[in-house]
Order: sequence, then C-alpha cells, then structure tokens
Amino acid sequence: MVGNTKKETAPKQVLNPVNERITKRFPSVDRGKIWQDVSEKDWSNWMWQQRNRVRTLEQLEKVINVTDDERKAYEGSVEMFNMSITPYYAALMDPDDPNCPIRMQSVPKMGELTIDVTDLEDPLGEEKDMPVPGVTHRYPDRVLFYTTHNCAMYCRHCTRKRKVSDPSSAAQKKQLEVGLDYIRNHPEIRDVVISGGDPLSNSDERLDYIMGELRSMDHIEVFRLGTRNMVTLPQRINDDFIQMIRKHQPVFVHTHFNHPKECTAEAFEACARLADAGCMINNQMVLLKGINDDPGIVKELNHKLLMMRVRPYYIFQCDLAQGISHFRTPVEKGLEIIENLRGWTSGMAVPHYVVDGPGGGGKIPLIPEYVKERKGNKVVLRNYKNDEFVYYDSSDLEED
Ligand code: SF4
Repeated sequence: MVGNTKKETAPKQVLNPVNERITKRFPSVDRGKIWQDVSEKDWSNWMWQQRNRVRTLEQLEKVINVTDDERKAYEGSVEMFNMSITPYYAALMDPDDPNCPIRMQSVPKMGELTIDVTDLEDPLGEEKDMPVPGVTHRYPDRVLFYTTHNCAMYCRHCTRKRKVSDPSSAAQKKQLEVGLDYIRNHPEIRDVVISGGDPLSNSDERLDYIMGELRSMDHIEVFRLGTRNMVTLPQRINDDFIQMIRKHQPVFVHTHFNHPKECTAEAFEACARLADAGCMINNQMVLLKGINDDPGIVKELNHKLLMMRVRPYYIFQCDLAQGISHFRTPVEKGLEIIENLRGWTSGMAVPHYVVDGPGGGGKIPLIPEYVKERKGNKVVLRNYKNDEFVYYDSSDLEED
C-alpha cells in the first residue's frame, strides 16, 4: 500500500513572514489524488515517508503512467539496484511525461541495462584508497567515512551503485568503530566527510554518537554531512534532528539538488532550518543529460539555491559508473554552462566544474580559457563578453 487515508490535522510550519516574497517562489508539492487524504501529521513524518516509499511496479503505476520502456527497465534493473522513491519526491513527478527531470532521476530507464565499455564498477577508485573498511583516505588532510548503505531514494545516476542499497555493504557498529579509531589515530586528518549511502538514513542517536566521537578528537576541525535528504525527504530535518546537530557545530552540509523543480517550499524550509541551526550548506549538482544539461536550467537552479541559503559549490561531470552512460554529457557541455554563468550572474552562483579523475585521480577543475595570448610580460585576456583587455606582469616590468 502506498499510503494510508487517515485524516488528522497538524500545525503547518510557518515561515518567517519577512521572507514571504521570496518563499512564494517555492511552491509546495501537490500530493495528487494518491496521497491527498494522508494526514498532515503522517505526511510530515520522515519515518512515514520512508515506510511508504514507492518500491514496486504496482505502486509506481498508481503514481504515473508507466511507459513500456520504464516497465522493461524496472524488471531488468530491480535485482541490481532497487527502486525506492519517497511519496514526497514521487509527488513531484509529471505523471504523463517520461522526460520529467524528477522521473528521470528516480524511475529506471532502459539505458541502465547497458554497460558501456568505458564503465567502471568503482569509478572513483574509492576501494583502493581504503586503509580500513569504510574509510577512504585519498587527500592529505581529509577522509570520506562510509556510515550506511541506505538512502531515502535511490537515484538512478548514483555513482556508488555498487554499494548503495546493498545490505551486504552495510556499515556495522564494529566497522564504525574501526573507522573512528583510524581517524583518531591520524592527527593529519582535520576534515571528515560523513557519507554513505545517505548518512541521514542513520538514526539521530547514531549520528549524534558519530559526530560526538569526531568532536572529541582534537585534530578534527570540521565535518560534512553528504546528504540528499533536503531534496528527497525534507521532512527528515525535524526539530529533534536540529537540536542534535546544533551540539556539533561547525557542521557543513553538502547536498545534491539537480533541477529547479526540486526547489519546493518543503525543501526551502528544510534548508532554512539547517541554516538557522548554523550549518553551512553547499550544493553538488551532477551534470545529467536531459535533466540539467542546459545553461538556463542551471542558472535558475543556482538562483533558487542562493535564496535557500545554499551555495552552488560543484558541478560534477557524470562519472563512469556502470549503467549510467545514458546520463553522460560531453565535457564541452559543462564548459558551456560555466561560460554562460561567469560574468552573466553573481559569482556566488557560479560553482566549480570538476571531473572526478576516473580510478581515483581526485577532483580536476575545468574552466573555459580566458587567456587569449601571452607575449613577454603582456597577457591578452578576454572577459565574459569576449571583449579583450591587456594586462602586464609586474615582474617583467621591473626587469625593463
Ligand atoms: S542519495 Fe546519493 S548515495 Fe544515495 S542513491 Fe542518491 S546519489 Fe547515490
């Protein structure tokens, strides 16, 4: 059953009236016929959302008009990578448009069944840089700490398909302790990315324990929670979670909005709560063919994110993970997007465009070329409108 039908009233969250002119740009999700009778109390409860996720074809058919392609793709992919969509995120889908950006991120497509010759099982080489299970230590002063295999929703473009949704890869308590011991014994680590899966799939108690242990280590300065819950399950950012996270500041939250349609009133509220609790929120968009490979869409998304107090931080080129080649765009598309942002909008709305070096090379930034010519101490530069400007290096001037 997709949802129950008991009707109760619960107090609606009230946004600061000062922000009304901004918040009216963020529409609340339309639950449609399927969930219209679910009580406000249930709908705003993250555990209800998790329990009532859309997981089967039968449930999906109640939400959208499933195409033959989607039906075949579901049947061919469900063994490898679960389908799981929260009612909140499913309600954002266009029931009639298979190219809806929400639907493309959550409902299997036939492209998933194709393994391209260039695909890699572990595209970022995370396993080879694991000194102990669950900790990837690649860069000198920071680590990625794997805490769960669960996510609220399984994104069809996930780069960690090999582990995510697979119970055999779950981080047991013993593995967590081994990871915490590794971090404790490496004073060069100052920054920990708490990851998964989605770390917010852990209970508040477990997260409190992990963050408390990290905070007790003198060398740990900051940590980040890498979560998509503000996008797929904003109800997770409730009062208990906020109270818990306040104890562990400074906390950075790295999230993953991919399309302006995901910027709803519910997502706005979740981000506002985190920002009010002192969290700094960064967005890591993944460039996806047919979803956001358009400069206008990315600009609109980034403008909305800034209003939500979320800084557009990265645009990731789609990785070489298995079964996601249908989402890949040429590298030139990412450069075109940056070219269309830089100068044309606030610098705050211009993220870094990066390719994660396949096999474990780390993040490689790519920017359009703005140096047109260099001769001696003279550098010819172009600006965003392609107008030319000459700059002179002072070191060469001193030699003259
Ligand atoms: S939330 Fe992140 S880890 Fe989970 S399925 Fe989506 S992309 Fe993968």
